Formats: sequence, C-alpha cells, structure tokens
Amino acid sequence: MDYQQLKAEIIAYSKEIGIDKIGFASADPFLELKNRLIRQQELGYQSGFEEPDIEKRANPAVLMEGANSIISIALAYPSKMKTRVESKKGERRGIFCRASWGLDYHLILKDRLEKLEAFILSKVQEAKVKAMVDTGELSDRAVAERAGIGWSGKNCAVITPEYGSYVYLGEMITNLPFEPDDPIEDQCGSCTKCLDACPTGALVQGGQINAKRCISFLTQTKDMIPEEFRDKIGNRIYGCDSCQTACPHNKGKDFHFHVEMEPDPETAKPLLKPILSLSNREFKKKFGTAAGSWRGKRPIQRNAIIALAHFKDETSVPELIQVIENETNPVLKGTAVWALSKIGNEAAYTALIKIKDREKDSEIQTEIAKALKKIERKRAN
Ligand code: SF4
Ligand code: SF4
Repeated sequence: MDYQQLKAEIIAYSKEIGIDKIGFASADPFLELKNRLIRQQELGYQSGFEEPDIEKRANPAVLMEGANSIISIALAYPSKMKTRVESKKGERRGIFCRASWGLDYHLILKDRLEKLEAFILSKVQEAKVKAMVDTGELSDRAVAERAGIGWSGKNCAVITPEYGSYVYLGEMITNLPFEPDDPIEDQCGSCTKCLDACPTGALVQGGQINAKRCISFLTQTKDMIPEEFRDKIGNRIYGCDSCQTACPHNKGKDFHFHVEMEPDPETAKPLLKPILSLSNREFKKKFGTAAGSWRGKRPIQRNAIIALAHFKDETSVPELIQVIENETNPVLKGTAVWALSKIGNEAAYTALIKIKDREKDSEIQTEIAKALKKIERKRAN
C-alpha cells in the first residue's frame, strides 16, 4: 500500500466533506502531556469532567492495539453572528459562548469523522480506526498540536494560523503508518493578553489552567457557584470566550463555512427572564441541540439568575420570587435569594421578609437572613 498516496487522497477527500484542516501525527505516547496532567492533578486544577485515567489520555496504544498514527481534524466556527438580536429597551439577555452556537459540535465532527472512516475503510478494508470527539480520552489539543493543526496558546486553546482558535477539534487513531506532519512553532512570544483578560485569574501561567477558577467550567457545574466568582460571570450563561477574544491571532477571524454552525440569535443570546420558568420540554425544544445543553436545564437557569443579578434587573424580582417559592432545587433557590440581595430594592427586600417565614428549608432560611442583612447594610450606607 502506498501510504503517501493514501494520505494525499484523504487530504483531498477531507476538503470535499467540509473538514477545514487535517493533520497527521504519530501515535507515540504523549509524555509531556502525561507529566502536565499529573501536575494538574496534584495541584487540584482539574475540572472533574475529564477522563480520570491519565494513561488513556496520554497513550493512544491503550485505546487501540496496534495504534500507528492519529489523524487530527479541525472545523472553523463563526465568531460573529450574521443577524443581530432585536432587543427592546430594558430586556436583558445572556450569552452562550461561541463553541455552543448552532448545532452541537460533537454531532458535526462525528459526521465528518464517520465519512472519513468510511473513506479509509473503502481504501483499506483491514484498517482499524477509532474516532474521538472531546470524549476526554485522548487530548484533542495535544493531538492537534503534534499533527501541525496549530500551536497550544497560553490560553490553553489550539491556535491555527488560518482560523485562529475558533476551531472544533476531533481525531481518529488508526493502525495505518501515515507519515506525520510537522508541528507549528509557538507564536505566543511575550504576549500575555489572554492572561490579562481572564476575569478570574484561571490561567495560572502560560499554558496551564485552573479549571476550578475557569468560568467556562463553573457555568457547567451543578452546585452553588462560589460567591467570589458570581459577579465575574456577568451575563455568560454557558462558557466563556474572554481569553479567545483577547488573542491577537483571533482578530478578524470569523468563518461561516458550515451552515449547521450558524447561530440562532434568540438561542445564542436568549432573553434571561423566560429561562427561569422553562419546562423540561420547552428547554429541550429551545436549547436541546446546542452543545451548551449537555448538563441539562438547571445550570443554565442558575446562570441566568446570576446574569439577572449582574444587570440588577429590578423587573425580574417577581420571577426570582417565583423561583424561591416554587422550585425544589436548593441551588436555584439559593442563587435567586442571592440575586434579590444584589438587586436590593424595596420590592426585593419586602419579598424576602415575606418568604422568610414561609420557607421550610433551613439552609435557604439562612441564605435569606444573610440577604436581608446585606440589603440593610447597603441601605445604612
Ligand atoms: S475561559 Fe474565561 S475564565 Fe476560563 S481561562 Fe478563559 S478567560 Fe479565564
Ligand atoms: S493572547 Fe497572546 S499569549 Fe494568549 S494565546 Fe493569544 S497570542 Fe498567546
């Protein structure tokens, strides 16, 4: 088999099926990554969403016997919306990060990888392939870096010279011996713009992230968000793009190659108040095909409450009261109490006093007492 020829055919086919960049890497263990992951674990910087077995993440041979090479693919996604949302005065909106605009990228990459797999198998019937998208097993970024897709920026994203870091990454391990491509030289230099732009100081040092401080991770958790981060979250209801938008290599990068990635502005920048009363069915209908819905309705609702507090939206007081009175989820109730204390107007104060006597949950009662004190302190100043 002429693998040079097959590689050229795969590259040509990838363009036909809407893969914007493709690279080939050896399937040798990722030793540097392994050390970094161990260090990350020791420091407690992991999100908890990743594959816990470091060996699996750093050694392709554990995932496929006879692994010989890895094909890395990248698809560029839009960074700007073609149509703007029409907001009426006083209407408050949240924002999903760009990687959650349009159809869930897992589905888009899966489609391209399946086509690629079928193509390879049509050429080499005995080939073994194993495709992966953000499964947490193999590190998409480490593979992409090795395959020359881009370099790993200080913001922990893979930056491609063509599309910046606005790319979705996927990969496929194979037992075929493709010649590897050369990695791209790191072009961050002395720049620290992403570190300076990070609202929570989550980028500990170039290339290392403390996931527990990262808004992108925090918006995906299901618990109460620690108070120190709530103000910093602003109106982000899923993910955070600040360390990407700050990057000079993303300047002017906005690609609209894939129709399924085009965002519906009403979903990507939704009105906040209606989110609080969505039924499961309504949530699924509105957000179900977006990558940002993977943790379900409640984290999005909690983040919408934080966003309303960020705007100090006095018109949302009745909706927040409804949450405290009708919800059973203590995270939503507790966050709504906190939001009322941030808004802190007369309506919020009176409502909290009334609710306090009716509330049965002792933890929520404590939160209400704290919120009332906060408003009283503010009034006294
Ligand atoms: S995603 Fe946001 S919070 Fe996380 S490192 Fe980047 S700028 Fe910081
Ligand atoms: S902002 Fe600067 S340091 Fe950060 S990833 Fe971009 S080029 Fe690198």
